[in-house]
Order: sequence, then structure tokens, then C-alpha cells
Amino acid sequence: MTPSPCPLPALAVDTEPLPFDAPRLERAVREMLLAIGEDPDREGLLDTPARVARSWAELFGGLRESAAEHLARTFTQDSADLVTLRDIEFESFCEHHLLPVFGRAHIAYLPSDRRVVGLSKLARTVEVFARRPQLQERLTAQVADALMEHLRPQGALVVVEAEHMCMRMRGVRKQMPVMATTASRGVFTSDAELRRETLIVLGLGERERGSGAARPRPVAVA
Ligand code: ZN
Repeated sequence: MTPSPCPLPALAVDTEPLPFDAPRLERAVREMLLAIGEDPDREGLLDTPARVARSWAELFGGLRESAAEHLARTFTQDSADLVTLRDIEFESFCEHHLLPVFGRAHIAYLPSDRRVVGLSKLARTVEVFARRPQLQERLTAQVADALMEHLRPQGALVVVEAEHMCMRMRGVRKQMPVMATTASRGVFTSDAELRRETLIVLGLGERERGSGAARPRPVAVA
């Protein structure tokens, strides 16, 4: 089992984020360029602080968004069957190194009162939590908790598989830098058979509880 590149601390309490401060970020990027021995006034770097500020406003936009915006509008479907969505691609940043994390989330939930949400809203929910300085374990848990809180299903199961550039680009390069994390809530914690069948539906059969190294899978073609 490959250890997590970023060990999980206690979940951070959700606090109101400060507004995005572009001028401050531009000054900081200029300082970073100076600190690595670059000349921020040379032609190629002149606009870099402003460009980085604009891209970070988008890449960390999840800090100023709430999953409630996307999960509030539910509707009733005819059946009470399991809902699954796999291979939701996301990009995030590891909060320890501020290096990118590329991954896929797989979501399943068992509705209560046949109450469901649009599939695109599940993808938007992943994005809300991915676009923050993040830990994979926390991202996985936050998506599962948001589903439980806003959709009130009988249970939710979230599996996240991701590659961490902090493992790939730095130090000893791991041969299989794909990490898998799982969060089970409600019936998925108590019903092992349901959990096992759901993992198979998600194409993740044999996956055991908790986090650990996952073998990279071939990319699924939708
Ligand atoms: Zn990291």
C-alpha cells in the first residue's frame, strides 16, 4: 500500500472565505519570482503576476462557492433505485505543495423518497470542493457529506482516484502515483453487500474500505 502523499489532519471547520484579493496575489507572485532568482521585470514575466492572479481566481473559485447552490434543486424520479455517476473528471491543488492533482470521482447514492438531483449537479458539487487547496481524503468526505446534507439520501458512496503532481514531480517518483480514497455514508456503512454491488456498478469491484493505492485503470470511454 502506498502511503498518502498528504496525511489527513482533522477536517477544517468551514469558515466564511475572505474575498479574492487580486492585487495582493500579484504582489506575492512578483515576490516569488524574485525569491527564485528571476527578474520579474524581464519582458516574458511582466504580465505573469496578473495572469497568475486571473487563473487562481478561477482555479480556487470553489472557496467562494457552496455545494448547496447545486444540490438545492431536487426532483422526484419514478424509481427508488441506486443513482451512480462515474468518471467525473476534476482538477485540484494539494494544499501542502500547491501543485495540481488530477483525478476522477465516482458517486453513488440511494435516494430517499425517490428524491434525486440532476447528474450535472453532482459534477458541479465535485468542482466546488476540488477548486480549493485540498486533500484527497477531505475532498472525498466533503462530497459525500454534501450529498447527505442536501439530498438526504439513504446513503452515499464516493470514490476518488487521483494523481498528485507533488508525488510525480518531486523527490522519488512513484511508479504508480494513483491514489484512491473512499467515503461511505448511511446504508453504505451498514450494508456490506450493497456497498460491494455498488462498487461493481461503478467499475471499482474488489475495492476495499478506506484509502490506499489503486492500480491505474484504463480510461473509460463514455
Ligand atoms: Zn502534496
